[in-house]
Amino acid sequence: MAGIELSGLSTVYPNGVRAVDSLDVRITDGEFFALLGPSGCGKTTLLRTIAGLEAATEGTVSIGGRDVTRMDPGRRRVAMVFQDYALFPHMSVAQNIAYPLRVRRAPRARQREAAEHTSASLGLAGLLDRRPGQLSGGQQQRVALARAIAMEADVLLLDEPLSNLDARLRLEARTFLKRLQRELGLTTVFVTHDQAEALALADRIAVMESGQIRQLGSPKEVFQRPGSTFVANFIGSTPMNLLDGVVRDGAVEVAGARLTPPAGLTLTDGAPVIAGIRPEYLSPGPPGAEGIAGTVSIVENLGISSLVTLECAGGVLVGMTVLEHDEPAIGAAVTAVPQPGRLLLYGGEDGLLLGEAEVLAEA
Ligand code: ATP
Repeated sequence: MAGIELSGLSTVYPNGVRAVDSLDVRITDGEFFALLGPSGCGKTTLLRTIAGLEAATEGTVSIGGRDVTRMDPGRRRVAMVFQDYALFPHMSVAQNIAYPLRVRRAPRARQREAAEHTSASLGLAGLLDRRPGQLSGGQQQRVALARAIAMEADVLLLDEPLSNLDARLRLEARTFLKRLQRELGLTTVFVTHDQAEALALADRIAVMESGQIRQLGSPKEVFQRPGSTFVANFIGSTPMNLLDGVVRDGAVEVAGARLTPPAGLTLTDGAPVIAGIRPEYLSPGPPGAEGIAGTVSIVENLGISSLVTLECAGGVLVGMTVLEHDEPAIGAAVTAVPQPGRLLLYGGEDGLLLGEAEVLAEA
């Protein structure tokens, strides 16, 4: 069992930056866990603190039930793959992969066997005698992964290991990484600033900001129900609509529509609120349908679907994803109808989720 438990964990740099700020997280054995967030939010520092490459200032790190907070990196049984794979240029692929075993003075036959075994599962057989300089970027990245796996660690820590690959290779490597992680059942913590990658790979995602976790949940949870406008803005290939509204007579007025507030919630008249809905959860309805009415101003091709931008009351722009055969004409009057349960309200000041709203039928 190699779950990871972080309790009250903070990592403060000597210059006073609290890169990791009082985190409490339990990562279960065999879980694929993504750390997602903007540049500088503390992802790499957290990974390095788990590995023992940065010292925790407060709190504890446990791996597999052992408190490793003060333990040397080499004794934590973690393998880490960095952004720049850091392969040894003068060693062959086989020697690179077997390096962790050589350091541990494993017998030569055992080293060769490990190199052959892991390289085969990574599609590197036939390349074992090459030097890193004679490999493509994707192949080098797989060698770095193979080396990490050959360590027979309990935990795999990955710091943007796919970031140097071109878009196509990145997709292939992503699929491959997910399959490999499943097969090995290795507890994996994966740092990325690419929300699509986190959504595709992770069992759970921690969205970080300023050293803290803003939301922790499955990819579905963070996509469908972002807990704040910060998370809403960060997740999704097409940006979520976040529309300014105001409370009037117990309802929320936004872009010419009136919304019922979340059940059981009384909002103060005049309070600012933000209505959030993803373009994917809106579909085109006829004028008069229960939704947000507007005029089609832009249609952008996304492949099998299009992102349609409606200009609504007060010049508010609302994005809506439609399938190719439903594409409306520029200038057409269209109502964007939300899927039930997908229209969310956030506090206008703190940006925190208040709950679900519904569009009120016109009186
Ligand atoms: P990126 O996506 O850009 O790699 P990140 O989320 O991994 O960013 P970190 O590298 O963990 O962020 O940095 C978190 C904060 O700590 C940042 O404000 C950064 O400037 C600061 N920081 C990182 N390393 C050090 C250091 N050695 N000394 C002082 N401050 C540091």
